[in-house]
Amino acid sequence: MKTATGTTVIANGQLIDGAGRPPVPDAALVLRDGRIAYAGPVVGAPALPPDVRRIDARGGTIMPGLVEAHFHPTYFNVAALEDLDIKYPVEYVTLLAANNARLALECGYTAARSGGSLFNIDVWLKKAIENDVTPGPRLAASGREVCGVGGLMDWNPDFRKIGMEGLVLLVNGPDEARAAVRKLVKDGVEWVKTYPTGDAAAPDTNDHHTLCMTFEEMHACVQTAHNHGLKVTGHCRATEGIKNALRAGYDTLEHGTFMDDETLDLLLKRNTPVVPALQFEHASIEHGPAFRMPRKVIEGHRETLEGGAESARRILRAGGRLGMGGDYGFAWNPHGDYAKELTFFVKYVGLSPLEVLTCATRTGAEIMGRQDEFGTLEVGKLGDVLVVDRDVLADIAVLEDRARFIAVLQGGVVKAGQLTRPA
Ligand SMILES: [Zn+2]
Repeated sequence: MKTATGTTVIANGQLIDGAGRPPVPDAALVLRDGRIAYAGPVVGAPALPPDVRRIDARGGTIMPGLVEAHFHPTYFNVAALEDLDIKYPVEYVTLLAANNARLALECGYTAARSGGSLFNIDVWLKKAIENDVTPGPRLAASGREVCGVGGLMDWNPDFRKIGMEGLVLLVNGPDEARAAVRKLVKDGVEWVKTYPTGDAAAPDTNDHHTLCMTFEEMHACVQTAHNHGLKVTGHCRATEGIKNALRAGYDTLEHGTFMDDETLDLLLKRNTPVVPALQFEHASIEHGPAFRMPRKVIEGHRETLEGGAESARRILRAGGRLGMGGDYGFAWNPHGDYAKELTFFVKYVGLSPLEVLTCATRTGAEIMGRQDEFGTLEVGKLGDVLVVDRDVLADIAVLEDRARFIAVLQGGVVKAGQLTRPA
């Protein structure tokens, strides 16, 4: 991805650094050749030549670009199971994924970690974004997901003879788990996304208290992935599944819904980040009836929302790490709504706006293993910046409205926001 040349100064706003420090009022951010040269009070800024590019924050906020930590680029308006795998051909899904990536960038998300993708689309989407073929967040790819046979992600009955081709690699036993991860190594993914547990969406045979992989399968995934320099994450709701994931050496947990004290201790000891993805549950409860979601499913989402919110609160209060993001792309939780996650954590989970912003920037970059490159506004890092014409600490929901964004920058290049639209 190309970076800017020359100097840009962003000033006339408060600066939130993404590292959790108090905001700096009347700040300046100086970018030189796409990287941060100064971040702090305007009075301390270095003297600059008159021909620098200036961006006026208009009394609003200068902050790091957001990181979507559980992004499904290939999900589009999913309302039924077949929408996830067999509805469209791979050609069309690729175009949808490129469109979703552009939208995420317009929404202020300058980086994202895939939580799984149809076929190998996210690997190639990442390459296209890196090569400036198409705009989008800096991406970490996951490709196809891994699940036990008969588990949450194995829903096409055998008589259809289509398996779960494209979406999931199904495994029986540690040998097959190893083989699946080896396939993914060859595909070029960075993350192996697995399904240790079920979900409220499948109340009959794979609900949120059901295990969908054995410890041995999970451990084989981790050993093989780590051997090849890949990381492993998993959809973990049931307590036993979370425990298995932590003991197997998972690098992150998705959801981390039901945690007892022992599990929380283990999580904190390993400092494993968790991406709760709670707005999805909230949206499912709110809009489920309109989509004819069975009552049993909605009740399950209510249970996972309550459990997940409680666990998230405990993790952060105990000094653990949370990433923000999750499962946008469903009809009731569409792409573009990403920042609703942040609002939800302030309004319903009780985190402060500054805490949530740190989760959505620095922790997101840490999850991606790229905290030395972006995630905070500190000297030397890439100029991945979001400039908003409002005080986001006074009202976090401002981030849901991309019309309020003056500029979204990657490597100092303005990619989206008011400055890219004709006057
Ligand atoms: Zn997901």
